[in-house]
Amino acid sequence: MSVTDDIKAKLDILDVVSPHVSLQKSGRTFKANCPFHTEKTPSFIVNPERQSWHCFGACATGGDIFSFVMRAENLQFGDALRMLAQRAGVELSSAPNREQSNAIHSVNNAAATYFQEVLESETGGQAREYLDSRSVRRQARQDFKLGLSADRWDGLIQYLRTHGYKREDAIAAGLVREGENGQVWDFFRNRLMFPIFDRNGNIIGFGARALDDSTPKYINTAQTEMFDKRSTLYALHFANAEIRQTGTAVIVEGYMDAIAAHEHGYKNVVASMGTALTENQVSQLRSLAREFVLALDPDDAGQEATLRSLESSWHVFRDVISRRNTANQSVLNQWTPPVLKIAALPAGLDPDALIRTDPTRWESIIAEALPLLDFVIPALVRRSDLNVPDSRAHIVRELARLINRLDDMDQHDYWAKLADELGVPLEALQASIASVGNRRARGRRNPPPWQSEETQVDVSSNALRAQDSDPIEEHALSILVQNPDLVENARPTNPDCFRETENRELFTALISYPTIEELRAEVDQILAERLSRLESADLPGTGLERALAHCLTRLERRRSSYNQEMMLHTEELALPPSREVEDEVKRVNQRIKELEIMSSR
Ligand SMILES: [Zn+2]
Repeated sequence: MSVTDDIKAKLDILDVVSPHVSLQKSGRTFKANCPFHTEKTPSFIVNPERQSWHCFGACATGGDIFSFVMRAENLQFGDALRMLAQRAGVELSSAPNREQSNAIHSVNNAAATYFQEVLESETGGQAREYLDSRSVRRQARQDFKLGLSADRWDGLIQYLRTHGYKREDAIAAGLVREGENGQVWDFFRNRLMFPIFDRNGNIIGFGARALDDSTPKYINTAQTEMFDKRSTLYALHFANAEIRQTGTAVIVEGYMDAIAAHEHGYKNVVASMGTALTENQVSQLRSLAREFVLALDPDDAGQEATLRSLESSWHVFRDVISRRNTANQSVLNQWTPPVLKIAALPAGLDPDALIRTDPTRWESIIAEALPLLDFVIPALVRRSDLNVPDSRAHIVRELARLINRLDDMDQHDYWAKLADELGVPLEALQASIASVGNRRARGRRNPPPWQSEETQVDVSSNALRAQDSDPIEEHALSILVQNPDLVENARPTNPDCFRETENRELFTALISYPTIEELRAEVDQILAERLSRLESADLPGTGLERALAHCLTRLERRRSSYNQEMMLHTEELALPPSREVEDEVKRVNQRIKELEIMSSR
């Protein structure tokens, strides 16, 4: 039994969910207003027999206690795991504690001092020249405690030993690595060091930039109890007060961008250390700022990857906002929703370069930042060739994912803007979007899509029964971890197809991280263990692409039939399933067709 199964066996989903919503009994299930979107009529179902929840409204999704707690409490998987484990009285191998975190802060502090000394020493000449060439002044070097790791294997180890620090603490902090034979070495060598502070000014990790041709150019402390890159905002502890005071947080990507901003007195600037905002980052800023401005390199603005990352930031942003929104309904009248804006920088200039050469221009660009959709709509239209058949439909589909999450009034404005950009009448655009809704309004003469024939799938009931380990899920994951180039084929698969919590989280991580190495460095220990098991699974030498498609087909079918089963319970709801649910059913059917083609190749 996996740890999550153990926890699930000891907790009842009704106990986990009920503090967040008021459940009413309804047949064999319970219903409530969905805690994750605003609604007046319940479309949120909890099924105690299956120990699962499902929203048949705008969320069109569901899951187990882990996914519920992750959403409701806004937690990463690791934190949800620790919280529920504690509640269930299940012991996890590595629980964080105060003593340990103090030890890590303290050894990180010592390391930062050492790195600073190296930078200011004779050895640091080249690194100081580099900083001078980037116009980083001495004061900023000191404020941000910039340093240099020496070009040797034991510089830091020696220093820490002399100053009485414990080797285990240095290892736990990710500063020192330990080999199988117990030999140790400095993790950071010959790199410019950027200490990363938490909101209270403790050093929780380091970012490090290569000074030669080493790759990758930037590395950072691997995930530790203390340090999770995804929940970190660089320079937040310097920016905290100013963000609160101005109500605006400006988000740049790199360390140097944030440092340049602070040097020039723009103190409401933080760096995201990645391209897309994470839930945790948005939540941290949410309590400080009403306006988020993402400073974007214009070279990337029309790029697919940038749009994906903006889309992801947008969803995260909306999720966090709507959750707060629901939680604060009583004070809704005084509540102004925060805005996510995009500031497009001039071609070829990152924030660092722009701030240092033309601060006035930086100020006006930030002041003129556009709300995300006002930026994305023209950017998406510009990069598409409207002469290609279906390109308009494609744009509409892409943007529907963003626009549909707004309230009615804003939706209308943005559809109008899009119609204008595409050069089509708004009525035509609306007709294409509204067809699903209209059919529902006409009544039920045609069977609704979730009951149509193509969704009738036969799945042996064995596959639905809970098992200790799920062979199909694990086979698919083994193929993916051993053949990362196949991850693209699996990307459209909804992680909810994976029933086992560990598998689902691992799959989510697989499609989020660029490489397995980065994934391994960052995921929670329980997932790392599962990963090594999957990496050593025996696989045939050929036919893996087909085998993967075959597994994914079965998982999609299983999920689809499970969702239909859940939907039977919606008879007890006052409403038919939402348009989002219908769309999801269609999407799944389409996906199953694609996969079947792939697996018959
Ligand atoms: Zn919902």
